[in-house]
Amino acid sequence: MQLLCRRGLSCLSFLVMRFDLVTIFPDFFTSSFSYGILNRARTTGLVELHTHDLRSYTHDRHKTVDDRPFGGGEGMVLKPQPIFEAAKTMGVSPKVHRDPAKETVILLSAQGRPFTQAVAHELAGMERVVMICGRYEGVDERVNQLLCDREISIGDYVLSGGELAAAVIVDAVVRLLPGALGHPDSSKFESFGAEDIDNKSDDPQVPPRTTHGAGGILDYPHYTRPADFEGAPVPEVLQGGNHDAIRAWRRRMALKKTLENRPDLLERSNLSKQDLKLLEEIRREKLDEA
Ligand code: SAM
Repeated sequence: MQLLCRRGLSCLSFLVMRFDLVTIFPDFFTSSFSYGILNRARTTGLVELHTHDLRSYTHDRHKTVDDRPFGGGEGMVLKPQPIFEAAKTMGVSPKVHRDPAKETVILLSAQGRPFTQAVAHELAGMERVVMICGRYEGVDERVNQLLCDREISIGDYVLSGGELAAAVIVDAVVRLLPGALGHPDSSKFESFGAEDIDNKSDDPQVPPRTTHGAGGILDYPHYTRPADFEGAPVPEVLQGGNHDAIRAWRRRMALKKTLENRPDLLERSNLSKQDLKLLEEIRREKLDEA
């Protein structure tokens, strides 16, 4: 079997991306990693997923991983000692010697920087990603300070633990690895798509070549059979064979959806003059409808 190495080139040996997840609930991940793309990536050796039970790195009868917070207050805090011991046993490089392009240690935290598709792409280029899953009130801050390279949050809400956040990150990263999806370009053709857009033409008569989330916007709406469902028809343009018209419709709908659901993305997306013109039209239509 010919294998793809991580840079998308044909080669005999290839780099396997490795995730290490430090948690008090290692069984949590058994089912999340057993389906679909993740399962295939794991069983074909594209990715290695290792869980580490924090309680194995304790030394008391009760396998204590937490303690009361200094300064008082609610809840318990995960102690630094078992986490540092786990990292040492796993062979995680000391922070000062770590190659930031190859290995990263992440603390999952509601106080972290937002996880985005751009971060997923960055992590997909690494050889090893270690994630520390917090619980209770969180993790002793010295873990962040002395062991972790970054704190990541998966959204502006508070979860009970870091395990769900870790599973989300693994999923989003693994599908970006060359070979994980059926078609190597599939992950470019979706929401938050490739940075640059293929359609550089400013001529409104030239239909865009790429219509998905290209430029960093949302994907367009999708339809399948039947052509009419409960009185709701599939847009006519999609049923005709005019591919230029279909691309133009899809780009317009992607812009419309982004304007409606995530206008913040438009401010930082890479839009052509043609896109800006379409957006102006969509805004005007909305005003007319109101
Ligand atoms: N006291 C913390 C706060 O207010 O920010 C919340 C702690 S939370 C109950 C327990 C653990 O869940 C955290 O240590 C972290 O690992 C994880 N967690 C909670 N929300 C998260 C989020 N939005 N993203 C990533 N991890 C999160």
